[in-house]
Amino acid sequence: MTGKAYVIGAGLAGLSAATLLASRGASVTLIETAPQAGGRCRSYFDPAFGGVIDNGNHFVLTSNQTVFDYLERIGAADAMQGADLPEKDFIDIRTGARWTIRPDPGRFPAWLFDARRNVPGARPTDYLALARLLVAPPDQRICDVLSCKGPLWEKLLHPFFLGALNTQPEEASARLAGALVRRTFLRGGNAYRTRIAHPTLAAAFTDPALAYLESHGAAVQLGTRLRGLTLNGHNAMALDLGEAAVPLGSGDAVVLAVPPWVATDMVPGISAPDDFRAIVNAHFKMPGPTGASPMLGVIGGTAEWIFTFPDRISVTVSGADAIVDQDREVLAARIWADVAKALNISAPMPQWQIVKEKRATFAATPAQDARRPGAQTKWRNLFVAGDWTQTGLPATIEGALWSGERAAALALRHLSL
Ligand SMILES: Cc1cc2nc3c(=O)[nH]c(=O)nc-3n(C[C@H](O)[C@H](O)[C@H](O)COP(=O)(O)OP(=O)(O)OC[C@H]3O[C@@H](n4cnc5c(N)ncnc54)[C@H](O)[C@@H]3O)c2cc1C
Repeated sequence: MTGKAYVIGAGLAGLSAATLLASRGASVTLIETAPQAGGRCRSYFDPAFGGVIDNGNHFVLTSNQTVFDYLERIGAADAMQGADLPEKDFIDIRTGARWTIRPDPGRFPAWLFDARRNVPGARPTDYLALARLLVAPPDQRICDVLSCKGPLWEKLLHPFFLGALNTQPEEASARLAGALVRRTFLRGGNAYRTRIAHPTLAAAFTDPALAYLESHGAAVQLGTRLRGLTLNGHNAMALDLGEAAVPLGSGDAVVLAVPPWVATDMVPGISAPDDFRAIVNAHFKMPGPTGASPMLGVIGGTAEWIFTFPDRISVTVSGADAIVDQDREVLAARIWADVAKALNISAPMPQWQIVKEKRATFAATPAQDARRPGAQTKWRNLFVAGDWTQTGLPATIEGALWSGERAAALALRHLSL
C-alpha cells in the first residue's frame, strides 16, 4: 500500500507541495498552525481598515513559470492582472521628475538606444556591466561587481534589486541578482511584465488551492501546530501535534514547509538562513485616481512602490529595517506625503493601515544564501521546502512555489507515485 504524505505549513511552498502531491494521487494531509492559509502571502479582513487587505503587495513577473503552472493547476489562471506591455512608471519624489521605461517585448533591446524609452541619463553601454552579475562567484556582493552609481543604478537597478531581493543592494548577493537578470533583462520585455493578484492574494493563491485540495480528498487542518518530529537514524517516525501524536511509517513522507527558525528547531543540524529583512506596507482606503499607474516606482522618498486598486492605494517599502520600528502614525503620514505628491492627490490622508513584517524574507546576502539547504534531509522520508531553501532565487513567490514542487517530487518518489 502507498504511504501517506504530510505537508506541514500552508504558506505558498506548502500549498504548492500539497496540490502537486494531490494531483498525482497521493493521500495528503496539510497541517497549518495559523487559522488561515497563505503564510506571508495572505489576505484578511482588517476591522480598523474596514475592508480586506493583503498583508503586503505582491507582484510576480510573466517569466515566473512556476507561478503560472501553479495557478493553472489550482484553476486560478485568470486571477492575475497586468498590462500587455512591459512599461514601468517612475517618479523622483525630490524633483518631481517622471519617466516611463518602455522595453521591447522581444530580446533585442532597441529601447536602450532611444532616450525617450530608456532610463533618463542611462547609456546603452551602461547595461553591459550587468553581464558581470551572471558570472559572479557566490561570495560577492552586487557592488563588488557593479559600480553602483550613475543614473541607471539610481533610477532602475537600485529600486529593482531592492524590491526583488528585499535587501539593500549594496550588501546583497551578486549571484542572486544575476539570477534575476537572467530571468528578466536577458529574456526581453515579455519576460518582465508585472502581474498582480486581483482582487486579493487569497483569491489567486490560497482559496483556489484549498478548494483544489478539498476536491482531491486531502485533509486540511488549520489551527494545528506541529510541535516536533520524532526522528530515528533514518526516518521521521511521528508528528507531535500536541494532543495527538501521528505515527509515521517509513513509507510515509513529510514535507516540512515552515519558516527557517521553525525548521531549525525541529530538524537537528539543518543549516538555514538566520538573518532577515523587514517589509512595511501601507494601505490607504481611497481608490487609485483615474489614469494612475497601477504600479509606480518612487525614487528618493519613503514609499518605494505605489500600487493602485479600485478600492485602495497600497505602498511597499522593502528592506525596511531602518523604519520598521517607527511609530505607525508617523509612518502613515510620511508615506502618505509621498503618495499625495506622486499621485497628485490634495485630499487629506484617508483611513489607513500599516502592516509590518519584520521577518519578511531572509537577507539576500552572500553569507545567508550560503546557509540555504536543499530539499532532501538526512532522514529518508523528510523533505524541506520554503523560499529560504536553496532555490537559486531570492525569497519570492516563484522560489517558494518551486521549492514546494521540488520537495513534492522527492516525496512522490519516496511514495513510489
Ligand atoms: C510583505 C511582503 C511582500 C512580499 N512581496 C513579494 C512580491 O512582491 N513578490 C514575490 O515574489 N514575493 C514577495 N514576498 C515573498 C513571498 O511572500 C514569500 O516568498 C512566500 O510567501 C514564502 O512562502 P513560504 O511558504 O516559503 O513561507 P511562509 O509563507 O512563511 O509559510 C510557512 C507556513 O508555515 C506555517 N507554520 C509555521 N510554523 C508551523 C508549525 N509549527 N506547524 C504548522 N505550520 C507552521 C506558517 O504559519 C506559514 O503559514 C513578500 C513577502 C512579504 C512578507
